[in-house]
Amino acid sequence: MRKKIVAGNWKMNKTQDEGLKLTSEIVNMVGDEVTGDVTVILAPPFVHLAQVGRLIAGADHLFLSGQNCNDHAGGAYTGEVSAAMLKSVGADYVIIGHSERREYFQETDAQLAKKVDLALENGLAPIFCCGESLETRENDDYIAFVCQQLKESLFHLPAADLSKIVIAYEPIWAIGTGRTASSEQAQEMHAALRKYIAAQYGEELAENLSILYGGSAKPANAPELFACADVDGGLIGGASLQSRDFVDIVKSF
Ligand code: PEP
Repeated sequence: MRKKIVAGNWKMNKTQDEGLKLTSEIVNMVGDEVTGDVTVILAPPFVHLAQVGRLIAGADHLFLSGQNCNDHAGGAYTGEVSAAMLKSVGADYVIIGHSERREYFQETDAQLAKKVDLALENGLAPIFCCGESLETRENDDYIAFVCQQLKESLFHLPAADLSKIVIAYEPIWAIGTGRTASSEQAQEMHAALRKYIAAQYGEELAENLSILYGGSAKPANAPELFACADVDGGLIGGASLQSRDFVDIVKSF
């Protein structure tokens, strides 16, 4: 049985007070309203991790994630944060390869592979993001493009490690644009990625891997997306900044 997951990526939003207020609201709403078997992950900015972690400690369903980690274990990398540091403040997950990091910080597939390794070595489950640009989507090879991203950054892993990864398919043309992939488009890609992973690692592993959709997901479209056979939840940006919207998405399975 694969995990149903909704992860909120706050990106570079929320001051400390705002972030703690949002977290408290989410803790209360999840406690009161969420009954099913769903993993809810909060990915606040680094500076809020420890405090958000304290607020969610002991709460059912809720887990903490970093939004990124460095591709070195430690040392003279001013301004950076390591996987070990994330683990030390209570994170269980780390987002790796978000399209904003690939684009604005020129993160390469090879660097992402190193981040994945360091995350796993430090007991963090990577939420590995992949996805194509609008230009690639308009060509016929968009599925091959995203499969290649998985191959380059993940397929060096032994099966035992690959099985710990959460994949987040995030078409770049749908992130923060209000333009969501249709449920058919999401299902097509998710099924193709699962098949590609199965060809390399076997059906059983692929069937147990959670593949999340990300890109302008909101309460209005989450139920249809989450109803797709190969969509196991969502990585949520904008709508994760409002407790009511975020928790309504969590309740969309
Ligand atoms: C994201 O950046 O991971 C994301 C899915 O953003 P949004 O939901 O705002 O499109």
